[in-house]
Amino acid sequence: MSGINLEHISQHFGEQIALDDVSLTVKEGEFFSLLGPSGCGKSTLLNIIGGFLEPTKGVVYIGDQDVTTLPPYQRKTGMVFQSYALFPHLTVFDNVAYGLKVQKKKKAEIKQKVMESLSLVQLESFAKRMPHQLSGGQQQRVAIARALAIQPAVLLLDEPLSNLDAKLRKNMQTELRNIQRNVGITTILVTHDQEEALSLSDRIGILGEGKIQQIGTPLEVYRQPNNRFVAEFIGQVNLFEAEYDEVTSTYTVPHFIQSNGKQVQLKVAAFKEKSEKHLLMLRPERIKLSSVGEEVQPNHVTGVLADVSYIGHSLRLVVGLNQGEIIVHASDAAFPELPQVGETVHIHWQPEDIVFLDSKVHA
Ligand code: ATP
Repeated sequence: MSGINLEHISQHFGEQIALDDVSLTVKEGEFFSLLGPSGCGKSTLLNIIGGFLEPTKGVVYIGDQDVTTLPPYQRKTGMVFQSYALFPHLTVFDNVAYGLKVQKKKKAEIKQKVMESLSLVQLESFAKRMPHQLSGGQQQRVAIARALAIQPAVLLLDEPLSNLDAKLRKNMQTELRNIQRNVGITTILVTHDQEEALSLSDRIGILGEGKIQQIGTPLEVYRQPNNRFVAEFIGQVNLFEAEYDEVTSTYTVPHFIQSNGKQVQLKVAAFKEKSEKHLLMLRPERIKLSSVGEEVQPNHVTGVLADVSYIGHSLRLVVGLNQGEIIVHASDAAFPELPQVGETVHIHWQPEDIVFLDSKVHA
C-alpha cells in the first residue's frame, strides 16, 4: 500500500491543454475520487497515474518512488476500466489469474491469490464460469478481483460502475466501499457522478477545465464550495450576486426583485469585507416554506410557483419572483397534496445557510 503524490502535472495534446499544473496528494489507504464534467481531464490524469500516458510536464510519485516514466506493469497499480474488459474466452478463474501468470507466479500461489480475490468480491463459487454467464455487476466484480489479485499498492478505477443500471450501481457502490475498506488499499475513482463521489470518498478532487478546483471531504465540497464552478457542479444551488447595504446590514441582490418591487435582502451569519460585491450561495434544501402571516425576518421572500417537479422523496419547486427565481427542495412528507403552479408561496431560511463563494472560476 502506498500514497500518491502528483506534482505540477500538465498534459498537452497538440494545442489543447487537457491538464494544467495539477498537484495533489492521495494518502495511503484513502478512497479519493476525481470528479468533474465530461472532458475535464479525469481519465487523462488517471492514465498518467497508471502509466498509460506520460505527462507533458510534472512528476508522479507512488509511495516514495518517482514512477513518471515507468510502464504500467512496473507501477504496482491495478486498474479497472468502464468496459470491464474481461477476456471472453477465459473462465472467471483464468481472468483473475491473468496478471499473476504474467508475473510468472507459481501455480499454488496463483490459485491461492485468485481464490482470495474472488472471495473479496464474493464470487468464489463462480470460478469456473465464463464471463457471458455472469450479470453485469458480477462481471464488474470479476474485473475488480482481477485488479486486486496482483496485490497492487494502488487501485485505479475509471468510471467502473457507469455501465450498470441505477439499482445495481448503488449495490456495487456499497460493495466497492466495503472491499476497499477490507483491503485498505489506496484507491482513486474517476467519476462524473457527484452522488457516487460524495457517498464513497474520503476526499474528492474536483476537476474543471484541466485544473483542480477544490480538494476536500464530501462535506467540505458540498457545504463550502470554493467557487461557482464547484457549487454548480455538486448539487443544485441558488447563487446571488450581492452588494453589502450599510443601512440594513444585509446583502442586497439587485437581480432578484420581489412583487412589492423590493430587492431580495440576505442576512448572513458572518460578514466578509462589507464594501465589495459578493457571490453568495444558498442550497435549495436549506429553504423552508413559511405559513401565511408567519413573521420570519429578514430572510423571507414571497413568490409564485413557476414549476413543481415530484422526485419521490422530495419536491423541486421553482419560486418565481418579479425578477429572478429561487429553487427549493422540500421533503415529500411536507405535502399531503402537491402544490400547484401559480400558487403564492412564502419561503425563508437561516442566516447561517448563506455561504460566501469566491467569485473566480478557479480556486
Ligand atoms: P469523460 O468523463 O467524458 O471521460 P474526462 O474528464 O475523462 O471525460 P479526458 O478523457 O481526460 O476527459 O479528456 C480531457 C480532454 O483531453 C478532452 O478534451 C479530450 O478530448 C482530450 N483528449 C484526451 N485524450 C486525447 C488524445 N489522446 N488526443 C487528443 N486529445 C485528447
